[in-house]
Amino acid sequence: MSSANRFRLPMEKTLRIIHLCFIFVFLLTSLLFWQQGELFNHGYRTSQLSHLESVIARLESRAQYKIDNLRYLQRIFTEALDDPLFTGSASLSTNLNDPVNSASLWINELPMVGGGQSEADKHIASKIRHELYALRKIQSLFPLASDSLDTPASNYYISREGRFIASLSTEMNAQLVRSYNPHRKEGSLILASPLLNPQRNPFWTRQNLDGTQDTLINGAVPVDFHGEWIGLLGVAFTPEKIKALLADSLPENTQSAYQLLDYRLMPLSATVGAINNVQLNAQQLKRIASQLAVSSRGTLRFGAVYVTFGSVANTQSVVISTQTLSQGLHEDFGRFSLLLVVMWIIFVLLLWASHRLICRLVRNMGTLQREMHWHAYHDDLTSALNRRGFFEKTAQLSPRYKDYSLVQIDLDHFKKVNDRFGHQAGDAVLVHATQCIQKAIRSKDVLGRLGGEEFCIYLPETHLEAAVAVATRIKKHLEFTPLALNNGTRLSITASLGVAAYGEHPGYSLEQIQSLADLRLYSAKQRGRNQVCADGEEVEEA
Ligand code: GH3
Ligand code: MG
Ligand code: MG
Repeated sequence: MSSANRFRLPMEKTLRIIHLCFIFVFLLTSLLFWQQGELFNHGYRTSQLSHLESVIARLESRAQYKIDNLRYLQRIFTEALDDPLFTGSASLSTNLNDPVNSASLWINELPMVGGGQSEADKHIASKIRHELYALRKIQSLFPLASDSLDTPASNYYISREGRFIASLSTEMNAQLVRSYNPHRKEGSLILASPLLNPQRNPFWTRQNLDGTQDTLINGAVPVDFHGEWIGLLGVAFTPEKIKALLADSLPENTQSAYQLLDYRLMPLSATVGAINNVQLNAQQLKRIASQLAVSSRGTLRFGAVYVTFGSVANTQSVVISTQTLSQGLHEDFGRFSLLLVVMWIIFVLLLWASHRLICRLVRNMGTLQREMHWHAYHDDLTSALNRRGFFEKTAQLSPRYKDYSLVQIDLDHFKKVNDRFGHQAGDAVLVHATQCIQKAIRSKDVLGRLGGEEFCIYLPETHLEAAVAVATRIKKHLEFTPLALNNGTRLSITASLGVAAYGEHPGYSLEQIQSLADLRLYSAKQRGRNQVCADGEEVEEA
């Protein structure tokens, strides 16, 4: 490994470790934030469910109240039917809208009323008179069974035999007549039959109004008299009334949109609460239905829309609340989540900034280290290797190259240059000499400035003769490349060179070969300078 690499690698390694540490911190904290987010998400779902629960509880209690009222009417009605004072004589046709008792009860005939003169028809007519009489007796109780939201009053009675409808308003009657379809199984009268309702339970149905998209929601209890099914008492809700009922059941300042749907998830009312224009598509409704088949409550997320749903007991209906992301952010858990996201973003930004800062510090440190290293191994003036750099580099190379040579160079009378032209000129001569030498050698040769005006060249894979040729080339280069000084003087310099090769003394160390080259340099000086000496003899120029 070269000395330069010794410095580069740890820095890269350090950076890699820093990257890994930051990635680890990033992943760990993101995981913690995510976990916290999941906690908030769970809390959010729970709070949505509890809001929905309160809405459902109110709807259930309202529905139960209605059914209880119907049961009460049913009992009073059957007691009135038992009244022994009844002496029916008037015919059905004259009795239908009899203003007796200043009655507020409106009676409407339904299709398929039997009107013949047979014994069976007479029996039916007698029954109808009984029912009408009993209804007149209890009609003052009808308004009591309605609550404040009932405008118009919505309780009604349907007679099975007489096929008539009685309620407190003409409007209600008109709607009931339009919704009455004796051929449809979903008609509430049929569902009161002992065949379809052997337990005689109260029930809820939905009926279409003839020729419109409107529907009527009915709660009903079957009415039996002396073990015989005679009709039903019901309470009817228009979609507007359902909407008002739902709106009245919402928590205060709700941020969700609520809707009541039937068990097939067909809307029973318009949306109330915080309206958000969310329209659930068929596939989403299907997912809700499949969840409802497993559990009576649930939450689902469709993109940025949270859906909470639950079924209303005994009414065959479902409440669905939807909330968009922006609506959710107005709620506590939404705000917490937003804060969490902001905190996470701030944390990531801080982490990113500190990562950049630390990396920059490490890189600066690396650069500084490299510079220090360069200065430790190079000569500032000529940029050639200094003594330490030269010996370290050649020590690394010499085991690789057995057949190397060394050329020892010393500029001639350099002191005089300093003395005559000044130290700066001397420095310029040193730089110039370095460049001349470098031009004369190969890139794999190693040049070092060992001291003052003294240089040494390591020539790998070069035997003595070739090294002498290189030394001679350097000598000539120096001699015939004068340096132009600032004052215009062209200064020609010469050098004495000593050459020694490893091949001469294969047992010698690098230092010993260098001493030999130095001796030969000394010989070159002795013999008059500006010459190359190998083996103590001056080598003649080719
Ligand atoms: P010789 O031919 O015998 O080598 O004579 P010389 O004058 O070159 O040898 P000597 O060793 O007497 O002088 C070397 C001089 O080099 C002495 C010193 O002032 C000068 N010198 C050493 N380092 C530097 C340097 O970095 N810059 C300059 N300008 N001069 C230097
Ligand atoms: Mg010298
Ligand atoms: Mg000298």
